[in-house]
Amino acid sequence: MIPYGRQSLSQEDIEGVVEVLRSDWLTQGPVAPKFEHAIAKKVGAQYAVSVNSATSALHLACLSLNLGPGDWLWTTPNSFVASANCGLYCGANVDFVDIDPDTFNMSADALSVKLADAERLDLLPKIVVPVHFAGQSCDMRSIHKLSQHYGFKIIEDASHAIGGQYQSKYIGNCEYSDMTIFSFHPVKIITTGEGGMVVTNNAEYADHMRRLRSHGITRNSAEMSHIPDGPWYYEQLELGFNYRMTDIQAALGLSQLSSLDNFIKHRKAKALCYEQAFASIPIRPQKALVDAVSAWHLYVIRVPVSQHLSLFEHLRTQGIGVNLHYIPIHLQPYYQQKGFKKGQFPQAEAYYHEAISLPMYATLSDEQQSLVINHVVTAFL
Ligand SMILES: *Cc1c(COP(=O)(O)O)cnc(C)c1O
Repeated sequence: MIPYGRQSLSQEDIEGVVEVLRSDWLTQGPVAPKFEHAIAKKVGAQYAVSVNSATSALHLACLSLNLGPGDWLWTTPNSFVASANCGLYCGANVDFVDIDPDTFNMSADALSVKLADAERLDLLPKIVVPVHFAGQSCDMRSIHKLSQHYGFKIIEDASHAIGGQYQSKYIGNCEYSDMTIFSFHPVKIITTGEGGMVVTNNAEYADHMRRLRSHGITRNSAEMSHIPDGPWYYEQLELGFNYRMTDIQAALGLSQLSSLDNFIKHRKAKALCYEQAFASIPIRPQKALVDAVSAWHLYVIRVPVSQHLSLFEHLRTQGIGVNLHYIPIHLQPYYQQKGFKKGQFPQAEAYYHEAISLPMYATLSDEQQSLVINHVVTAFL
């Protein structure tokens, strides 16, 4: 089976991990901060906080923005459930903003309309989480403009998008947001096995998230409410978690990061190859924004509804591990129980009936890609 996505590990990656295994520190050692610095430097943010998953990163980002009961978090229905669940972890309410049918990202126009309605009802969101779907940036300039008018915070879910660019700068510089989170799950662009990172230009948010990822404990006497009893002393100041990234993971991430530009180059070439091969068949690829360079985490096509299921099944039978990103979050039984209804986000639902993710990863070979292309193209003859 040709999968829709997979990791690419080099001999150096393996050696980097083995080196940590032979060292004194397995977790909370010197490598995690090194990986944090390297990510911050790469994407152009001031601070980076490593954690054990992007789900944890979203949770801590929401907590550091003081999201709590009575507040609202808005995101896109076309995402993995984690983009919405982070609001619920904090006891807040979650709602969705429909997608643009061409970019498959949160629509800035739909956001604008929904905000105007919410203002009248005094139900404005505290946080909006745009997701850079498949690796292509949302229209961050417009979303940021709206945040200034309505006063909400922005967490960019860039789980798909490390190495992608917006307005000629790397996604993660946080020019148009308060924070950006990345995922290092094996299907994403670079991996640590499991792992995630929050980047921000705000020192307070970063310090708070560092404390929260380690039980809410501080060893900094300036933050303590008592004079230390002795050199062993620490204080728990709030309820935190164990969300730390291990040095084993960080070593893999640090080594993977050195391949990032190369991975993106390969993904871009494959995207171009798909685009050219499909130019004359009735499918819709993701529309490219002029000021965005996608990281190409996914290659998604929209096919006519009448052929969607049969093409999907045909490709799977041929050993091509196509997938579907995403089942709209509001259609999940858990969210239906919360009162969301079918028909509420019609663009995301229409997209769901047409979308197929084709294999896309750095080591997908030319022969494998040709096989995928042939099966797709002949289905439309
Ligand atoms: C993968 C993913 C996450 C969660 O990432 P983990 O590291 O697996 O927790 C969140 N949001 C989006 C959009 C994702 O694709």
